[in-house]
Amino acid sequence: MRALRMPAGVLPVPVQVLWMSARVLRVPAIGPRASASASGGKVIGSSVVARAPFLDWRAVDLGALLAERLGLPVVIENDVVALVEAEHWFGLGRGVDNFAVVTTGAGVGYGLVMHGRQVVTADTGLGLGGHFPIDPTGPICLDGHRGCSTAMLSTTSMCASARGGLGRDVEYDELLALAAEGNPVAAQVVGTAGRSLGHMIAAVANLTMVDTVVLSGEGIGLLDVPLAVVEMRAGLAADRDPDASEVRVLVGADDFGAWARGAAAVAIQARFGALAG
Ligand SMILES: [Zn+2]
Repeated sequence: MRALRMPAGVLPVPVQVLWMSARVLRVPAIGPRASASASGGKVIGSSVVARAPFLDWRAVDLGALLAERLGLPVVIENDVVALVEAEHWFGLGRGVDNFAVVTTGAGVGYGLVMHGRQVVTADTGLGLGGHFPIDPTGPICLDGHRGCSTAMLSTTSMCASARGGLGRDVEYDELLALAAEGNPVAAQVVGTAGRSLGHMIAAVANLTMVDTVVLSGEGIGLLDVPLAVVEMRAGLAADRDPDASEVRVLVGADDFGAWARGAAAVAIQARFGALAG
């Protein structure tokens, strides 16, 4: 299986759909075959992408477009919703009734499972958790927020922050490697991101009163750098009441597999009605 990810917003919709149809996830075990796409953005009716900022889409009936090209039943779901379902069903949240998920990568995602069921509302898919205020002195995101979670934690923002000090462009993986080697610019950026992640985890735990937070997404390799882990723990501890429950922080794989498993979960659950209602 392969996850649906593509370069952001540079191609017209028909070309992007063609790209997707060549890479769409197929789940033969529930045949007749079904397909699922986990798309960043707000999704209506398991088919229409109402708003997807990374793709510059509004009101695109992706489900119909893909179904026409593939000749298969297609289910469209927000990528974070799909990932949370996968984590709850057979991932790090398996058997856990109350937990939150924070994803980092090109953006920052947030999902919540309460009483054994994912919380899904009319605002799901708008990416509201991606703009949670963390540092009033931080950099600015594309929406103009200073120091929001995307500005502090997204891979693109971190690389942009490092560019000034390094005097050159840097890829995310190289940035993490430089931080691990002790490069002062990279260490500052990665350490700040780690502390910001800790602040966000604490806010999530404080406001929702969950004691388990699952971290996932292609940017979560951040926590392969020991400095980032130390800073995350410090940021979390700073914002928690000492008598509050210890927050279990569970770190998933930093590849696209998590998103693909999310799409698989959505396809199977839609097939059997587990997501109905
Ligand atoms: Zn923002």
